[in-house]
Amino acid sequence: MENIYITHVEIFKVNLPYKEPFVISLGVIESATNVVIRIRTNNNMTGMGECAPFVTIVGETQETVYELSKQIARLLIGKNPFAIEERLNEINKAIAGNYTMKSAFDMALYDLLAQKANLPLYKLLGGNNNREIYTDMTISIGPPEKVARDALAFKESGFPAIKVKLGTTTTDDVNRIKAIRKAVGNNYPIRIDANQGWNTITAINTLKALEPYNIEHCEEPVPKWNNKAMAKVRANSPIPIMADESVFDHHDAFKLASMDACDYFNIKFSKSGGIFNALKINAIAEAAGIKCQVGCMSESRFALTALMHFVLASKNVVHYDMDSSLMLAADPVVGGIQYQGKGKWILNDTIGIGATFEEDFLNSMESVII
Ligand SMILES: [Mg+2]
Repeated sequence: MENIYITHVEIFKVNLPYKEPFVISLGVIESATNVVIRIRTNNNMTGMGECAPFVTIVGETQETVYELSKQIARLLIGKNPFAIEERLNEINKAIAGNYTMKSAFDMALYDLLAQKANLPLYKLLGGNNNREIYTDMTISIGPPEKVARDALAFKESGFPAIKVKLGTTTTDDVNRIKAIRKAVGNNYPIRIDANQGWNTITAINTLKALEPYNIEHCEEPVPKWNNKAMAKVRANSPIPIMADESVFDHHDAFKLASMDACDYFNIKFSKSGGIFNALKINAIAEAAGIKCQVGCMSESRFALTALMHFVLASKNVVHYDMDSSLMLAADPVVGGIQYQGKGKWILNDTIGIGATFEEDFLNSMESVII
């Protein structure tokens, strides 16, 4: 059998401005500062991965990802790209944490494996492209009039649900939801995300106060380290609880499931380290009767395409928060998922992840080749 090994790894800093600044309880973001990895092999294959470091949640930045990626790249040269478990074990042994950085490598390795198998990635993962996938749309923190205006605009442009960023005070958060409900009517699906902004008492009080407003679920009500508090909030909340920042990998998923701390997991490659661990999180969720959502940070359409492949292979994923690329001012991605309007993403069958970046765009970004 042909001996295929990794010869080079290219690392690109990819900057993509937002259409408008995005505000959550953890800070303001004006531009996606992502990193793209391209792995090359001795038989001229290329596998690509993208990650979106979000420092207030994962503690990684474009700079840390760029630097550590060089170390990982050196580790990969000469190795078999298709033995993904072995490669990821080496990466995890060399560098602790840094799951966002690792997710770009995980993605590129899966891209290569699916190309080698001559299959779209979701087929390699045993999936089927027969579900309709609609993203919700996220509304950043703002005054009630503004969030209500945004909510109505998203409803009118056809998004099937909105996700509202909260996590301030009970009064302000309830006023936001009250204004939004008034604008969009009683039946339009609303989800909320506190991004760890509440303490236990505020979380319970706010969620109880929000009961009349027909909220689907609430993400990460309390600080991520406080799993016990989340279990307590869940036990006292009329609104289902979704773990996001508190569930990075399968170990977190197992712990939260054992503690009955949540109703849902929000899986993001930037937290899980990519597809390999995302599959494990979803397996634990299935075993525990927990449903999943997929989410994003500030990924372009490239990483969202990889996420779509995972979704199509994971029926237990029932909510889709895949809106990051819709918030970016430019779209340098070629191929991949296509936006149909009204929140709908479709994926045409292409081998591998089936997307790449415009070469001119990549060449305009700072890069290094190892
Ligand atoms: Mg969240």
